[in-house]
Amino acid sequence: MKIVMLGAPGAGKGTQALRIAEQYGVPHISSGDIFRKNLKEGTELGLRAKAYMDEGLLVPDELTTDLVISRLREEDCKDGYVLDGFPRTLPQARALSEKLKSEGARIDFALDIEVSDEEIVSRVSGRRICPKCGAGFHTLYNKPRIDGICDICGAELKMRDDDRPETVLKRLEVYHAETEPLIAYYKEEGILRTVDGSQSIDKVFEDSLDVLQD
Ligand SMILES: [Zn+2]
Repeated sequence: MKIVMLGAPGAGKGTQALRIAEQYGVPHISSGDIFRKNLKEGTELGLRAKAYMDEGLLVPDELTTDLVISRLREEDCKDGYVLDGFPRTLPQARALSEKLKSEGARIDFALDIEVSDEEIVSRVSGRRICPKCGAGFHTLYNKPRIDGICDICGAELKMRDDDRPETVLKRLEVYHAETEPLIAYYKEEGILRTVDGSQSIDKVFEDSLDVLQD
């Protein structure tokens, strides 16, 4: 089973990707992990990517695609994988389809974890982190015993700049512009499956397995 995960940042895509990969006994392939590994090992593709990053430029779609494809050629991917964080743009999705096609393979499903912007802002902006011990809390879903204080070490909890509503909204804007066309693309390919990501983690997982049956 070859699956592409879609969903806005904060939709819980990574969590579901891990569980689905485990369920099917296939690797969870995260584009972030691939970048880190290639940079660390100083591979040829990694060095080329690094040259762009060092100049503060975005790594071009084609190079990103090559990096991911080279990972997908490894032995553990031969029975399938769950792709998380790639493709991110329409050119990447097209390049992935083309390359797979040339090898007689294809993506089976694109699974979209759908969560409204309002819900994502409320989820993300409720996150609190302890600057001292790193423990994570949430003002709604994982409250500390005393408001604003770390249960473990007693330090004052902080909000990460990345979790501020205005920053979250900016990320969502980029997502809608860049990644949403992928939803239309995979729909046209007939392999789009959508689940309501506003439910509990277990229910989203259950629904995901259901829609991946057909
Ligand atoms: Zn703490």
